Amino acid sequence: MIGLARPARTKKSGNDVPIQTLTAKAKVVDLSDQDALLLGLLGFAATKLWNVANHHRRSVWGATGKIPDFVQQCRELKTNRWYKLLPSQSSQEILSELDDSYRSWFSHRKNGDPSARPPGFRKKETLSTVTFKQKAFEILPGNRVKLRLPKTYARREMVLEYHLPPDTTLGKVQQVKLTCDPTSGDWYVHIAHRVPIEYREAGIRVIQVSEKNTSTTCPLCNKRVKTARIQRGLFLHCGQAFNADLVGAYNILQRYLREAGRAWPDPSGVVGALARPAVNRFVWRKTTPKGREQGTFKQAV
Ligand SMILES: [Zn+2]
Repeated sequence: MIGLARPARTKKSGNDVPIQTLTAKAKVVDLSDQDALLLGLLGFAATKLWNVANHHRRSVWGATGKIPDFVQQCRELKTNRWYKLLPSQSSQEILSELDDSYRSWFSHRKNGDPSARPPGFRKKETLSTVTFKQKAFEILPGNRVKLRLPKTYARREMVLEYHLPPDTTLGKVQQVKLTCDPTSGDWYVHIAHRVPIEYREAGIRVIQVSEKNTSTTCPLCNKRVKTARIQRGLFLHCGQAFNADLVGAYNILQRYLREAGRAWPDPSGVVGALARPAVNRFVWRKTTPKGREQGTFKQAV
């Protein structure tokens, strides 16, 4: 079996082993009422910040004709009450998600989608996802995570215990996200962690292929269409909707076959399979001040 790695999307560890990012979803257990209340407050603050930032975008847009971008919003809103009620990187993450949504909306508009609407406001009762990065969290032994809270709080940190899915071994943890199930009220930690890809053990040979343009090339007409990759992992071109990750994977395989001088086994079959939109793997692409961040291969956990 052959595995195709995207060099730009995998980082090398010291001994030259490719690394991938996985996300483990773990239910928070033994959550005290006090901690549940605090988590609810964080989720509420995240919703409020989303709405404040969205209102800020729209009102500046109405007044000046220009929509403030992510960097401007970070500057303008850092003194906002809701912004200060979350760790600063958690607040920035929300502004980044909003920026992402606006970019998606613009792509739709550019593609002439008449039903495209600017990002909406969240309902007050919605508890939004809260992201903890870098110094705002610490993974403790015994399936526990310590979250650090901003100055405003009397308590400066909270420790949550979680149940990892069986057979999950965490690598180096990058960030954790907290979400609340609106029906059950249960909280979940989504732990993004880096693990070496153990290809050799799985009998997989790794061949590195450049991923340049592979996410923007239409698998049907082979044209480069930067605007085709739109919101939530969708790629629209040639009157078809594709899963954007599949488009990238397809193009990387095409490139490998071309470079290796191999023939494409059965293009019609694969295109047929690709043409069926896979709606169950919608994945947010992260946006940074410098633009879109590279993703990784997604793997079901
Ligand atoms: Zn096309």
